[in-house]
Amino acid sequence: MKIILLGPPGAGKGTQATFIANSYGIPQISTGDMLRENVKNKSSLGIEAQGYMNKGNLVPDQLILDMMKNRLQEDDCASGYILDGFPRTIPQAKGLDVLLASIDHSLNAVVVIQVPDDVIVNRMGGRRVHLDSGRVYNVEYNPPKKEGIDDVSGESLIVREDDKEATVRKRLSVYHEMTKPLIEFYASKNLNAKINGNQLINSVQKEIKSALDKV
Ligand code: ADP
Ligand code: ADP
Repeated sequence: MKIILLGPPGAGKGTQATFIANSYGIPQISTGDMLRENVKNKSSLGIEAQGYMNKGNLVPDQLILDMMKNRLQEDDCASGYILDGFPRTIPQAKGLDVLLASIDHSLNAVVVIQVPDDVIVNRMGGRRVHLDSGRVYNVEYNPPKKEGIDDVSGESLIVREDDKEATVRKRLSVYHEMTKPLIEFYASKNLNAKINGNQLINSVQKEIKSALDKV
């Protein structure tokens, strides 16, 4: 299964990607997690990306495409993957098409998670993440067993630098301008499965599962 997860920041892509990855036994590839790892390690990519990320802007397409070109050729990608947060622009989607053709891969589905902007602003204020694993919680809607602590590792959770309300609003406007056109792009290839993301996490999961079962 080769799946793209598309949707605004805070739609629940990371949350749902974990379920899908576990249920199909394929890796979850999150460009946001990969970039944060680079920022943490102060790699040259991380140093370049950080300024864009903290302002709520997209990291330049070529940096992302180079990063993904390496990632998709790793051994664990041979039988499939779920792309979480990539592609995010039309040039990235076209670049992905070229890359997939060169390694003889083709996409099975694009899961489009739809959530209204005002719901997202509310959710993001409560988001807490475990940086090393990318596991994501919400103080209200998906709390960890122990406040502020990752269930699996016992390490601290953090509030992301870019989850401040003003930055979330900026990211939403970037989504509408740069990423939403991808829905049309993939509709023309008959790949889209539209999902109502504004319901309980479990219900979203079920809707995605039944859509993917048909693929
Ligand atoms: P969210 O899960 O809230 O949508 P991500 O963790 O996917 O956020 O991304 C965080 C930030 O990392 C983005 O705001 C952007 O700066 C950068 N980023 C992640 N993926 C991409 C991408 N495919 N293209 C450009 N920038 C990206
Ligand atoms: P994305 O990867 O699309 O940015 P996340 O999976 O990180 O989204 O979810 C954003 C925030 O909203 C997190 O705090 C998460 O726990 C919470 N969340 C995810 N799905 C739902 C849902 N269906 N209802 C309420 N909160 C949710």
